[in-house]
Amino acid sequence: MKPAAFEYFAPRTVEQAVDLLAQHGDQAKVLAGGQSLVPLMNMRLARPAVIVDINRVDGLEYIVAAPAVLRIGALTRQRAAERSRLVAERCPLLRDALRLVGHVQIRNRGTVAGSIAHADPAAELTAVLTALDGEVVARGPGGTRVIAASDLFVTYLTTSLDPREIITEVRFPALPPGTGWSWMEIARRHGDFALAGVGVVLALGGGVITEARIALTGVGPTPVRATSAERLLTGRAPSEGLWADAAEAVRAAVDPDGDIHASAEYRRHVAGVLVQRALCEALTRVREAA
Ligand SMILES: Cc1cc2nc3c(=O)[nH]c(=O)nc-3n(C[C@H](O)[C@H](O)[C@H](O)COP(=O)(O)OP(=O)(O)OC[C@H]3O[C@@H](n4cnc5c(N)ncnc54)[C@H](O)[C@@H]3O)c2cc1C
Repeated sequence: MKPAAFEYFAPRTVEQAVDLLAQHGDQAKVLAGGQSLVPLMNMRLARPAVIVDINRVDGLEYIVAAPAVLRIGALTRQRAAERSRLVAERCPLLRDALRLVGHVQIRNRGTVAGSIAHADPAAELTAVLTALDGEVVARGPGGTRVIAASDLFVTYLTTSLDPREIITEVRFPALPPGTGWSWMEIARRHGDFALAGVGVVLALGGGVITEARIALTGVGPTPVRATSAERLLTGRAPSEGLWADAAEAVRAAVDPDGDIHASAEYRRHVAGVLVQRALCEALTRVREAA
């Protein structure tokens, strides 16, 4: 299938890209890796009149470790982040989630920022950003602003970005040493979008949980932060019974859709199972680090 006709621009700088978006407003779409936008255009589910291809913009492909945060430039491919030593050392939750994004061929082109901007309700990276309280840096005609993950995802395929803004950087807070993590998901086949997935971060001190972070994908229109389960876990000693209670809190908090791939009830059930497994794996990692 072929896309509807469009005008194509390949700016060389972020300023030129923003100028083009300002001129064309919601008629224009940014093209990054093209792994979501191009299929949508080919199926004519998206018909942008203008494409602003940012692939020739200099200075947007980097992974930098600032003291407490990993800064990932907008043109950094998912595969580059997956194979980065900095990501493995500072944010292994992101690396593990990246390994399950589609197939290698898709990750070779798809960008970290593009996945965040696309805001697919079953995407891995949106949930990782949500679990870690990450943020994006957006540039628009009015200048630069930083948007927290909690303010970014609005609903299916929709963010709070203005159509005239581009994401220039995604920031993932680094995991402090001794922190445990786990990414778990269920998909029908390798490379498929997850039916449900969960990212967990766990820290212990004095035999009790001092920090628990849980974010899920595939169980609602946006990534879901399981705050009730996080509260339930904090201050308690880890145990199988506690994991089961956390799983029930997650099942009560999520409101998944049913579709041809899985019923809502199945997704809710699986979300709890994944949370239990992920807490178990994260705890093992805390203990190994100690
Ligand atoms: C077969 C297949 C399987 C896949 N499986 C998975 C999967 O399991 N999990 C998963 O998470 N994803 C999956 N994907 C999607 C893939 O991860 C995409 O790469 C990603 O969703 C979009 O990144 P991109 O760089 O390709 O963005 P593009 O396709 O270029 O753009 C996607 C959207 O984001 C906007 N955008 C992109 N970059 C920016 C920016 N810097 N600023 C503002 N807006 C921007 C575009 O305008 C567009 O609306 C799959 C894709 C395919 C084709």
